[in-house]
Amino acid sequence: MSAVHRALKTHFGFDKFRSQQQEDAVKAVLKGDRDVFVLMPTGAGKSLCYQLPALLASGITLVISPLIALIQDQVEHLKALNVPARSINSKLPSAERRQILADLESESPRLKLLYITPEMVASPSFQPCLSSLCARGLLAYLAVDEAHCVSQWGHDFRPDYLKLGDLRSRLQGVPCVALTATAPKRVQEDIERSLKLRSPLVFTTPVFRKNLKYDVIFRDLLPDPYVHLLAFAKEALGGNTAEKGCGIVYCRTRESCEEVAHKLTKLGIPAKPYHAGLKVGDRTESQTDWMADKVPVIVATISFGMGVDKANVRFVVHWNLAKSLASYYQESGRAGRDGLPSCCRIYYSPKDRDQLNFLIRKEISRKQEKRGSEKEQDKAPLMDFEAMVAFCEQEGCRHATISQFFGNPKPNCAGACDFCCDPRLVRAQLARAAALSTR
Ligand code: ADP
Ligand code: MG
Repeated sequence: MSAVHRALKTHFGFDKFRSQQQEDAVKAVLKGDRDVFVLMPTGAGKSLCYQLPALLASGITLVISPLIALIQDQVEHLKALNVPARSINSKLPSAERRQILADLESESPRLKLLYITPEMVASPSFQPCLSSLCARGLLAYLAVDEAHCVSQWGHDFRPDYLKLGDLRSRLQGVPCVALTATAPKRVQEDIERSLKLRSPLVFTTPVFRKNLKYDVIFRDLLPDPYVHLLAFAKEALGGNTAEKGCGIVYCRTRESCEEVAHKLTKLGIPAKPYHAGLKVGDRTESQTDWMADKVPVIVATISFGMGVDKANVRFVVHWNLAKSLASYYQESGRAGRDGLPSCCRIYYSPKDRDQLNFLIRKEISRKQEKRGSEKEQDKAPLMDFEAMVAFCEQEGCRHATISQFFGNPKPNCAGACDFCCDPRLVRAQLARAAALSTR
């Protein structure tokens, strides 16, 4: 067994790496000669990519994370594993803080991981400690977790993260590890620039999932959209096979959740609604019945799905458009977690598109009025939405569109989308939709 695998077992209790990407990232960080950029979905085990190297390296790893709550979680977890990890933050009792600083100032500190918020890194009180660690060559790595917070194009921008560029410049020779969940290419480029990553080694879980079949149906062209949905759901659920599957239909409004669930049930597939307008008890019941395979279809607003990890989701339908291509990828990606063939379908309607477009623009002007000025990045939600619309309206491979959006190379779709299956059908549908809109 290699030293890395042994350390994985002794410190963390894991027999193997979660994925090849995790193993490769850990090894690249350990080598220590390059900056490393880790892009993997939530839950993929990104923390280990710096925690394990931190334990094997001599010196201390400085970990930047945006929230004290997140930091406390991580530190508690590491303490439980007997890993010397601490955090310095504004909530820390002063005795404990003195103790940590004393350790850091000692000749050979015991601490391996020091967690800290970006505000704290920039605070004057921390500077002497930081300079001294750096001057004595005691910093092994700088790890920036939730690195998308540095991007004004991202969904969770934090101005304090911009200070990390300066920090980076001060820590000459300390390799940087930036970590974030799968992010649009625009956000990735921002992170590389802001954190001054020098030709980083990038480790990413490919976004392409070959078991997901994507297609788009123009809803307004259908004589009866509900009957169409029913036929699709029946086929995706596999008729009468013993293997039980289930599905999710996402709608934008509570009313459409109710309507679609009612129609599907009436037509023969039991479906339950899930939205914020339901009594808590009813909502929980919808979810538990669906989780327990008692009802095959849940018709929900996007509030449903966070943390839901069900293996046998055979289809995810978007009855209404998602607000961005990134959200669409995440929501549709709840299908086929077991690796079996599954379908992701959008019932597209230009009316929907115009409504959402209007809402997004309204939200942007509201923000600008409140601030009293405009910024280029205000347009981010609109650009992300336009990528969603292009996905539906363009003639091209759906998988390729998603991969490109996330900066991945073009995948080998091999018929896993409607366009690659039969481009003529996609073109014909677009032509019929165009004819309808000019009527
Ligand atoms: P992320 O930051 O990518 O969302 P985390 O680092 O929080 O993910 O890890 C998610 C979970 O996966 C944690 O409970 C962690 O202990 C676990 N985990 C990480 N690596 C492995 C592994 N090699 N084997 C098993 N579990 C792992
Ligand atoms: Mg994480």
